[in-house]
Amino acid sequence: MRLRWSRQHVVLRHPFTIARSSTTAKQTLLVELEHEGIVGLGEAVPTNYYGQTIDSSEAALEGISRWLGDDPFQLERILSRCVERFDDQLAAVSAVDSALHDWIGKRLGVPVWRLLGLDPARVPVSSFTIGIDDPDAIETKAVEAQDYPILKVKVGTAQDEEILAAVRRVAPHKTLRVDANAGWSIHNAAERIRAVSRFGIELVEQPIPPGEPDALRGLRNLGIAPIVADESCIRPADVLPLAGCVDGINIKMSKCGGIRQALRMIHLARACGLKVMIGCMLESSVGIAQAAQLAPLADWIDLDGHLLLENDPFEGMGGAGGRLTLTDRPGLGVTRRPASQD
Ligand code: MG
Repeated sequence: MRLRWSRQHVVLRHPFTIARSSTTAKQTLLVELEHEGIVGLGEAVPTNYYGQTIDSSEAALEGISRWLGDDPFQLERILSRCVERFDDQLAAVSAVDSALHDWIGKRLGVPVWRLLGLDPARVPVSSFTIGIDDPDAIETKAVEAQDYPILKVKVGTAQDEEILAAVRRVAPHKTLRVDANAGWSIHNAAERIRAVSRFGIELVEQPIPPGEPDALRGLRNLGIAPIVADESCIRPADVLPLAGCVDGINIKMSKCGGIRQALRMIHLARACGLKVMIGCMLESSVGIAQAAQLAPLADWIDLDGHLLLENDPFEGMGGAGGRLTLTDRPGLGVTRRPASQD
């Protein structure tokens, strides 16, 4: 097997701001695994918050490429070794996981969701994310998102109520989820949850910084809104300690290491009564397609990263109105977008 990678520069339609950072463009790595004339695709989406950079991802891929072997069907052996060796570089591991699954699907002529035994009719409608901004701009964004029935609103600011009021002015009846991205504290989170719940919300994601399971349990026990862990729940080992502390976990490919690691997390979550969200980073349709293969197993999905881009190099996932398409195309079902004629 030959592994190669190249940097993809993706530009956002609007600057994207969450409680701790703001982004206008970013680099991801397109990973291609070639064997017997078939190319499997993956995308590494490194996140500084998890100690990953483009450089560290490339270094991990360099290491992995040396011992991939010559049988892409050896998923367990290859990916277990990847996780063992690069547990701190799971974005790179996820890209290899994706490329292997895409390759196998293409080799067998079946989509990955079918290899996994899943039902494409069970894909939930995805939320569409509204990043932090001033209330006037938020109102404009909420109007632009009129086709999406579920909005995820980023909070964790001094203006959370103004932001939600702006969204509610133009979307009075939509399902709203809020994500504080660890932007509240253990001292004010209960009061903040009470305040945002006045706007009618379905759930609260990551209210406080990770590492405070008892505080999460206290917020859950308020009984105001379901609590979903994101930054607190990176890899399979993080799931069981959160049982009873939260209502659900947000699983992301680049955070956990891909489809195989995500399946472990989903099984653990189900075994202890946790709900499952499948989410994403700002990434192209390659990364979104990998996550979407597991969407039939989720209660909630937040797979809109590709829709926030100005220049997604790939296509095939759909996403209009929050409806992702799992097609019968083999592998991940994404292809490179034809070069623009102008
Ligand atoms: Mg989140």
